[in-house]
Amino acid sequence: MLIKLVIFIIFFYFLYKIVNAVKQSKIGKNENYRFKPSSSSGEDLVEDPVCHTYVPVSQAYKKEISGKHYYFCSKQCSEKYTVDKNN
Ligand SMILES: [Zn+2]
Repeated sequence: MLIKLVIFIIFFYFLYKIVNAVKQSKIGKNENYRFKPSSSSGEDLVEDPVCHTYVPVSQAYKKEISGKHYYFCSKQCSEKYTVDKNN
């Protein structure tokens, strides 16, 4: 009886290992085709104060307004922000 149980446990242990290996290999394959979010590269994300989109610093549209640095997703947003501020 006990040997049967042990065989059962070993069987399920290997089954579990095989399933995990298959899962990991699938994830690994997908990783190559998947678009990697810039946050995973350790880059800081900045929030656009106009449309509240998060943009990586290197891709952000930077603008200095009264000595303060602002980051926008696009030139359009930066212009909208300056117009809104002046009004
Ligand atoms: Zn924006």
